[in-house]
Amino acid sequence: MKWNRGLVVILYATFAAATSVAGGRQISGKRSNPSAACFEAQQQLGEAVVDTLPLNQTVVELNWSQTCVQEPYCIISPTDAQHVSEAIKIIKSHNVKFATRSGGHSPNPGWSSIGKEGILIDMSKFNQVSLSGDGQVASIGPGLRWGQVTSVLEQQGAAVVGGRLPDVGVGGLILGGGYHHVSGQYGLAADNVHNFEIVLSDGSIKNANAQENEDLFWALKGGGPNFGIVTRYDLKTIPVGAIWCQLNIYAPGQALEVLDAFTEWQTNGASDLKSTIGLIMGLDTVTVGLLYFEPADQPEAFRPFYDLEPLQVAIPPTNATLSFLNEVLGGAFPFTPLRHDYRGISSRIDGNTTKEVYQHWVERALAVRESTGASQIFGIQHVPSELAKQGVAKGGNPLGIPEEDQLWWTTLVDWEDATQDDVVRSVSIETENYWLQLGEERGLRIPFLYMNDASRDQNPIATYGAENVNRLKQIAKKYDPTEFFQKLQYGGFLLSKA
Ligand SMILES: Cc1cc2nc3c(=O)[nH]c(=O)nc-3n(C[C@H](O)[C@H](O)[C@H](O)COP(=O)(O)OP(=O)(O)OC[C@H]3O[C@@H](n4cnc5c(N)ncnc54)[C@H](O)[C@@H]3O)c2cc1C
Repeated sequence: MKWNRGLVVILYATFAAATSVAGGRQISGKRSNPSAACFEAQQQLGEAVVDTLPLNQTVVELNWSQTCVQEPYCIISPTDAQHVSEAIKIIKSHNVKFATRSGGHSPNPGWSSIGKEGILIDMSKFNQVSLSGDGQVASIGPGLRWGQVTSVLEQQGAAVVGGRLPDVGVGGLILGGGYHHVSGQYGLAADNVHNFEIVLSDGSIKNANAQENEDLFWALKGGGPNFGIVTRYDLKTIPVGAIWCQLNIYAPGQALEVLDAFTEWQTNGASDLKSTIGLIMGLDTVTVGLLYFEPADQPEAFRPFYDLEPLQVAIPPTNATLSFLNEVLGGAFPFTPLRHDYRGISSRIDGNTTKEVYQHWVERALAVRESTGASQIFGIQHVPSELAKQGVAKGGNPLGIPEEDQLWWTTLVDWEDATQDDVVRSVSIETENYWLQLGEERGLRIPFLYMNDASRDQNPIATYGAENVNRLKQIAKKYDPTEFFQKLQYGGFLLSKA
């Protein structure tokens, strides 16, 4: 037993005095007291749920990016919504900072991790998947990763709109929207939520869906971690059968030709919503995944690519499954204990601009690799107007994505040394600025910024449009009147900063 009950009173008083943290945005004048909160949580929820010092390092280190790994005062790993409710009440009563972590895939420091000043709520034990009797709704825990969800559902002949990579977590992805291969056909993952089970700041456990707490339902479809801790997502299933796919690897010297083919697909082929392309432009290779969501033979939509000779056909044309795609993509992004960042921007489609920005990026990324060893990728996600229309048709969301064809640029950056954070991150920051400059000059600018690609200094919620932001703030005020999630949540894309 980690707490000797005979010494508890003395330790409690000593720790409480030694570790009280004053100041910060707190919800009452009471001093923050993580040790008292951790003690009370362990007494109430048990040692299996609340881990105190010395912490289990495997759980501490679950964040994908080293930019996020921190030692909290204690870790609460609830197994059901009632535990989350108790945890919230205790955290609130001791005025302690906290962070919630599901898959831990955000690379933004402090979004899903916290240091000694607070408590980590680790949702990894919410790892159940179940399918309704009629197969129409899949209930999934936020602590799952998309690879697990995809494979369990596939064994039961079902699929959902979710994440494209197996290690990425369920919890954060849906609250940011959730862009999937099939989002052109079905909208974002959040648009396909039937019901959110959520614990509010007063500890109450609620459902948010089209009939119950409808305003909260709307807000959760992209509004981030501002309203409560989600303990279950009920997702509408979608029909997915065999998927035609081919994976080609090109040389960096072919990058501009690949971008020409990609733009041609965006302007012509992509109107066939069954077609989608994963484009990952690295510094040594350019990878193109052609995906067609139906069994097929050389779909016409990808015509611009058929004349482009790849260095290597990594996966010859084949009819595959979502799990297979997950595995292939997972292999391309292995879990490595490095520092990571991502960044995003949206733009109207213009091939010349994409190529100019790519050239700007590659020159800088190569130079920074030379001095730091940092590896970076340049990715373009095609967003057909139908994606936004699906969101509206399925009840609406707060994102304010314009109903026009567009692209969401993203970059993933990996490096080792914390002293090089600024120089490494400068490449993506400069690239974003260049997109913005060209976008303004050429009338290509789309203000919307996708939360799941946004870096720590970006402000996605502020781009949702004034009306949506005001509505989100009203809804937050209604469901979290004490501003618990704004004041005690350690990081995240918070409405109070939008
Ligand atoms: C390699 C890679 C691939 C990716 N692929 C995709 C993709 O295909 N599509 C896409 O849309 N995005 C993608 N993303 C982005 C990803 O969706 C976000 O990083 C997302 O935040 C990850 O969710 P998580 O649960 O792992 O995050 P976490 O780091 O655990 O959490 C992220 C944020 O959500 C909050 N949060 C987490 N769980 C809960 C909860 N249950 N209740 C309330 N708040 C919660 C956290 O507090 C934090 O603010 C990818 C990211 C990476 C690094």
